Amino acid sequence: MSADIRNEFPPPSMNISFDNTENAFAYKSVKELKRARFLFSSMGYQWVVNAGVRLTPFAMKTGLPVRGLIRDTIFQQFVGGETLEETAVVGDVLQKYGVDVILDYGVEGREGEESFELATEEFIRVISYASTRTNIPFISIKVTALARFSLLQRLHEAPRLRSGIHDNEAEEEEWKRVRERMLRICSVASIKNVGVLVDAEESWIQDPVDRLTIEMMEMFNKDRPIVYNTIQLYRHDRLGFLELSYRIATQKKFVLAVKLVRGAYMQKERSRASHRGVQSPIHANKQSTDADFNAAVTFCIDNLENIACIVASHNEESNLLAAELMEKKGLPFKHPHLHFSQLYGMSDHITFNLAKAGFSVSKYLPFGPLKDVIPYLMRRAQENSSVSGGTGRELALIKKELKRRSGK
Ligand SMILES: Cc1cc2nc3c(=O)[nH]c(=O)nc-3n(C[C@H](O)[C@H](O)[C@H](O)COP(=O)(O)OP(=O)(O)OC[C@H]3O[C@@H](n4cnc5c(N)ncnc54)[C@H](O)[C@@H]3O)c2cc1C
Repeated sequence: MSADIRNEFPPPSMNISFDNTENAFAYKSVKELKRARFLFSSMGYQWVVNAGVRLTPFAMKTGLPVRGLIRDTIFQQFVGGETLEETAVVGDVLQKYGVDVILDYGVEGREGEESFELATEEFIRVISYASTRTNIPFISIKVTALARFSLLQRLHEAPRLRSGIHDNEAEEEEWKRVRERMLRICSVASIKNVGVLVDAEESWIQDPVDRLTIEMMEMFNKDRPIVYNTIQLYRHDRLGFLELSYRIATQKKFVLAVKLVRGAYMQKERSRASHRGVQSPIHANKQSTDADFNAAVTFCIDNLENIACIVASHNEESNLLAAELMEKKGLPFKHPHLHFSQLYGMSDHITFNLAKAGFSVSKYLPFGPLKDVIPYLMRRAQENSSVSGGTGRELALIKKELKRRSGK
């Protein structure tokens, strides 16, 4: 690290506890906490989550009157609002507690050239808005909002197509338009100095997403991180991919920028692999995922001069590991290359306590019309179901805070 950075942000000594629910929920009223308690209790019943995940998309499509129920429960908990204007209010509340925002226009599953153009325009509008705020350093995007899923899948499957040799002119033109959309987004982001985090999605479309993102990093990350790729450490090949990305960045002289996640599509990945009778790309067990995630955190912090890293996790141990490594190395907590993030509606005990200790930390805050954020909400329901164990953790903390406030 340069002497300049050390002088500008001297390292404080660490005083951090994730047990402090008073800090964690200071921004929530008792009424809001009770509503969250009800939601997380319901998600503790596996049959409720299963039924919800199966029936909600159908109910929304067929016009059944479930909108109000969804809006008052799971949407309210995990989403900033239906519009950018509504979401701005949540962003302002978070700012009061020293918490940043990663704005996510969370529309998923829309296909067609017109939709891809509209999404590009919306991403650019979000970047412009972010650049006017002091607590929105990043926005997040999905390449599937800019490109046909089956095109990405074709590019992923056929190495010949990936190398640029293409025997389908229409698809070649289509891919050029995708690249041009990405270029437009990243150019505006670079001018306005707002980071663009490219989400990782299903493993069977990831290769063209990685290639495009690395190309953008090469163009826009010459002297500071603007474009970030996402590394899913629940995949057994991704720690190696992180190291490979770093070698490419070193050779081509750009700042590697990565968001580290475990991964959100585990059930889908496993069932696809088992239907096809092939090896699953996911680690055989949670311990191996955790080991790779923590190794990735260590690798990034060991090379923090040339890697910008966002630790995007609700895992206490992984967050503590990153915080402790920073302290051990005498690095400033507000180092411009290290950021923490949790999803809005989850793990406030980590977010607000990290912020209080002086780290840069943000909430990943999606927004969009209710019907378009349903896939995102279904993933949150599954993540917080009794099978994954997420519910117990959130629920216990909310109950603890309600008890503290009632003085019992
Ligand atoms: C800011 C932010 C951005 C995100 N962006 C993305 C993204 O672009 N793409 C994406 O896919 N996800 C993304 N996520 C979602 C993220 O993947 C999940 O929230 C995350 O996997 C939950 O894990 P955790 O690190 O919070 O820790 P934990 O709660 O400790 O771990 C749970 C995770 O461990 C893994 N796991 C659980 N059981 C097993 C098992 N038996 N074997 C192997 N692995 C197992 C799964 O990935 C599961 O989600 C993002 C999350 C955040 C906070």
